[in-house]
Amino acid sequence: MPDRRPENRLLRVAVPVPLPRLFDYLPADDGGHVQVGSRVRVPFGSRELVGVVVELPAIADVDTASLKPALEILDDQPLFAGELFDSLQWLGRYTHAPIGEIFATALPGPLRRGEPLPDTHDWAWRMTAAGHAGLADMRPGRPRLLAERLQGGAVNEAYLGPDEADQDDATGAGAWRAAARTLAQRGLAERIAVPPSQAAPAPRQGPQLHAEQQLAVDAVLAARHHFAPFLLNGVTGSGKTEVYLHAIGDCLARGKQALVLVPEIGLTPQLLGRFRARLGVPVHALHSGLSDGERTRTWAACLRGEARVVVGTRSAVFLPLPDAGLIVIDEEHDGSFKQLDGIRYHARDFALVRARALDVPILLGSATPSLESLQNAVGGRYAHLRLTRRAGNARPPAVRVLDVRKRPLQAGLSPELLDAVAAALDADGQVLVFKNRRGYAPVLLCHDCGWSAQCRQCDAAMTVHAGGRRLQCHHCGARRPTPNACPDCGGLALQSQGAGTERIEEFLRERFPDVPVLRIDRGTTSRRDALETHLARFGDTRGILVGTQMLAKGHDLPNLTLVAVVGIDEGLFSADFRAPEKLAQLLIQVAGRAGRADRAGQVVLQTHHPEHPLLDSLLNGGYGAFASIELEQREAAVFPPFAHLAMFRAEAKQVELADAFLLLVRRALEDADRTLRAAAAPALELSGPLPAPMPRRAGYQRSQLLLSATARARLHRVLQQALPVIRASAEARRVRWSLDVDPVDL
Ligand code: ADP
Ligand code: ZN
Ligand code: ZN
Repeated sequence: MPDRRPENRLLRVAVPVPLPRLFDYLPADDGGHVQVGSRVRVPFGSRELVGVVVELPAIADVDTASLKPALEILDDQPLFAGELFDSLQWLGRYTHAPIGEIFATALPGPLRRGEPLPDTHDWAWRMTAAGHAGLADMRPGRPRLLAERLQGGAVNEAYLGPDEADQDDATGAGAWRAAARTLAQRGLAERIAVPPSQAAPAPRQGPQLHAEQQLAVDAVLAARHHFAPFLLNGVTGSGKTEVYLHAIGDCLARGKQALVLVPEIGLTPQLLGRFRARLGVPVHALHSGLSDGERTRTWAACLRGEARVVVGTRSAVFLPLPDAGLIVIDEEHDGSFKQLDGIRYHARDFALVRARALDVPILLGSATPSLESLQNAVGGRYAHLRLTRRAGNARPPAVRVLDVRKRPLQAGLSPELLDAVAAALDADGQVLVFKNRRGYAPVLLCHDCGWSAQCRQCDAAMTVHAGGRRLQCHHCGARRPTPNACPDCGGLALQSQGAGTERIEEFLRERFPDVPVLRIDRGTTSRRDALETHLARFGDTRGILVGTQMLAKGHDLPNLTLVAVVGIDEGLFSADFRAPEKLAQLLIQVAGRAGRADRAGQVVLQTHHPEHPLLDSLLNGGYGAFASIELEQREAAVFPPFAHLAMFRAEAKQVELADAFLLLVRRALEDADRTLRAAAAPALELSGPLPAPMPRRAGYQRSQLLLSATARARLHRVLQQALPVIRASAEARRVRWSLDVDPVDL
């Protein structure tokens, strides 16, 4: 029988440092009770760090001479237990990242820094004895109205007001809180902590499911007790969200928690409002716009099982789910689920791992599924549910391709496109002009000598901004005023070439002076709430929206009748093998915004390449036709999902250092692969060191090395074997480097 008394156990701790190992500590002097998965404050060199206990080895088994004691046990109950603890260990092995950094990534900032798990109770107001006695003497007014209400019992702060029946009361919640504080100052009422309220508006009925929705819901419910992945493939407006709501409703009825992941831009107040109105339980939100405190409370509420439904962006995949019943990923193809720095995880893929470990169903929804998920559906690993038509009365939009070869363009817009805009406005509709390039113009060119404005720090052209007055680099943020004369030849023939959203906006304002024109891009709208505010203010009036892919999803625009897509031609000829998939998804998403309600929608797509095979398959066969052709090409070229990739990236002031490091990486991988060849799997393919797509950025020279393997296990075994050599090398210390498993931007 091993001795399990804490004083006979060491703490083996995952510390958030970039070293792939654990660190042992003697028990803290306070002898606090410690469990695996609890946070602990430890000395580390000259610093103090917060780590997570991952093992409690017997002291007798370890040489303790050089060990220091831990400083403080921070949790009585582990923050990481059971499934989440195991899944994070898995993520550490999969990303080959240090487990201490994985745990740190999974926690909101305050918990990472060692703050205690916050209270998650609600606040309520109740009368004091003095209040009950003094009510009769109170003057009329809001405090008295409130006091009368509190006579009947404590009231949750979220529902303060004269009484429930007074739904039309236009006074803000702030005024009622002020009244409550007035009562408190006079000693008539007090604020008390109460258990988190499950009180929420009574659930509202949704529309009757149509046949395809019913089939989808039935399939999910039939599998509700076990791990079962579903791909819910349905065009925009086909009613996928209704399917989620039914599956979540069933999950709640069984007393289980549901986690819903949505893309960064998809988490709108509209969506949350719809969930809140329909489910009849409080719905927690988790996204980057919240304060640290709010994020931490949501984390704690999940851990305690109080949060029943959470709708969150990428990092919500790390929430503890002690009573999990269902995971939903909306817009599963969306790029924002992949974390591009630090721990480079993919929230969709990690959610699948968690669903398997939790033994619950997982629903991946999209109008334009990723080729990875489609291939899983084709191969029978995911059940494939299809919603083929729009719900309700909405009709699919009519798509028209405008061939603009040899047509005169103004700010990049053809006469036919402008006619279509005018017609839509005449019919009182809203128009969206989509151009995926922000700024005034992408290039500043000298017409005399051919000079163009380049960033001094990056291998990239500067974008013209502020109506032509400023140059800005979209890669490092550098800015400078536009020169008056060409720096090379001194000529005055500097011209802004091409059109970004800013120039299109300027032109449309002149052309359609009697309607509002609103531009939405990262220049005008850096925050999510700003997007919401802009669009809400714009409302349903006739007018024109100009913007980048920020407008491709999010906030519903029921009055949008025309979507005009311009400037997609560069995307048709990109070197990135994923570019066609991304472009097709973007086109379908943005086109799907037209005609969501009862008004018919129209899409016009302006291009110099109307016969391009991508447009041809997309327009004639839809996304499904495009995707099956694209999958064939991926298979022929042995690209994902038919191969598994990993990327080493390195950057340094001198390209020789980056390349020397990657050459060392290459040799270490080749050595490892050779020793594993006995395993008889096909060998690894390596390409690089090669310059990164942008070889110089913010003053750093950047190179990369790509690994490709047809067997995932092979890839991981080679990495596992080679990484200790790579990490220990002198070359590694002279560069900034990273490893990205399943990279999305090559
Ligand atoms: P998606 O998530 O696929 O874009 P939604 O679930 O948001 O689709 O549905 C689009 C619109 O159609 C919403 O306004 C929704 O209320 C409505 N809707 C969904 N299902 C039905 C149905 N069965 N009958 C009538 N309207 C529906
Ligand atoms: Zn010049
Ligand atoms: Zn730059």
